[in-house]
Amino acid sequence: MQRFDNAREAALALRPDDPVYCFRPEVLKQDCREFMSMFPGKTAYAVKTNGEKMVLKALAEAGVTAFDVASPQEIADVRAIAPQAEMLYMHPIKAQSHIRLALEEYGIRVIAIDHEDEVVKLTRVVKALDIDPASITVFVRIQTKGSAAYELSKKFGAGPATAVELADRLARGGFKVGLCFHVGSQIEDPDTYERALASADWVRNRAEAEIVALDVGGGFPAEYGHDPNRKKPEMPSLGQIMSRLRGDITEWGFGETPLVAEPGRVIVARAFSLIVRVLLRKGRRLYINDGIWASLSDSWTGKITLPARFIPDPAIRHRNGDKQKVVPFRVCGATCDSVDILSRPFWLPETVDTGDWIEIGHIGAYSLSLRTRFNGFYPDTFVEIATPFDAGAAPEGFASLETMAD
Ligand SMILES: *Cc1c(COP(=O)(O)O)cnc(C)c1O
Repeated sequence: MQRFDNAREAALALRPDDPVYCFRPEVLKQDCREFMSMFPGKTAYAVKTNGEKMVLKALAEAGVTAFDVASPQEIADVRAIAPQAEMLYMHPIKAQSHIRLALEEYGIRVIAIDHEDEVVKLTRVVKALDIDPASITVFVRIQTKGSAAYELSKKFGAGPATAVELADRLARGGFKVGLCFHVGSQIEDPDTYERALASADWVRNRAEAEIVALDVGGGFPAEYGHDPNRKKPEMPSLGQIMSRLRGDITEWGFGETPLVAEPGRVIVARAFSLIVRVLLRKGRRLYINDGIWASLSDSWTGKITLPARFIPDPAIRHRNGDKQKVVPFRVCGATCDSVDILSRPFWLPETVDTGDWIEIGHIGAYSLSLRTRFNGFYPDTFVEIATPFDAGAAPEGFASLETMAD
């Protein structure tokens, strides 16, 4: 992988017409270590957030020894990169053949469920393979309510009374029993975790089963951009969320219970930026070479404001407009699909033109992992960058939350 000091150098050296991912392994390791130093339990990185081999490798080097996996492919990828690492198979709904593969081929012994039929599948596999159920920890996923950029609580999780039944059923079957939840992604209200802890406490108090572990899931927020023309929105830092969570864990009586977290976004968001090129400027519209079917779907659906830097092409000698003036541009994606128009503008210097580049920051989470091959556009070029996106002068633009008039 080619290495540069910053994205501007990379853009001017390569003059790329296709999107380029700028990987920052040192930032990734730093954010990972910071999370691990703050969380009082085991950190299992959620592979779905960004399962690139370079990411898994850097995380293993940073000291991650556990990974939250959801599919045979994720399991194989982790095993190939970090053969010693523990894997937690936390997708609550699985094909029976995948459960068998996980237990038999990969020796996985931590698994999540949220329905009695999943217990039936698991029990069948355990019997067929003649495994002692006491060697397996089964986490019962509890339904939670909350506010997140992404709400996953509606899709998965057992209601509290069902969770009690599942826990007891598993214990009777000889399994070790844990409780888990996942409150969604980009949580900005620490009450969300407390409500989930209260549910876990309710379940524990009514279950006969001994609860041997608690998994608080992911959802920890990453830092993104904000509209510089407005007051920075009040948002708790990771440190504040974590110290509140640690307090709530003790308060709800889980202080002595072994803990697990499954962070994704908070660890990997800052580790990548993306260089895109303006293929055409048409008035206040920019047609770029990426879009919602490639790297930008998360910021689109999650209504996330990403910081952006303008990288003017020095070959453009004459420009119109005022370079100090930052104005909104509607952004059209690369594909021929009419949906592929970002719902939010990019705010950039008025002088931006056809042929310029834009570096979009903090895009490591759910960008590469969600890209498609639609229309034959599949960004897959990587460079390594030595300095953080935030190094140097403040970004002059951003991909905003503001709605704009057409
Ligand atoms: C997606 C997911 C995560 C990671 O969520 P982030 O918001 O990226 O931290 C963790 N656990 C489960 C079960 C998930 O589905």
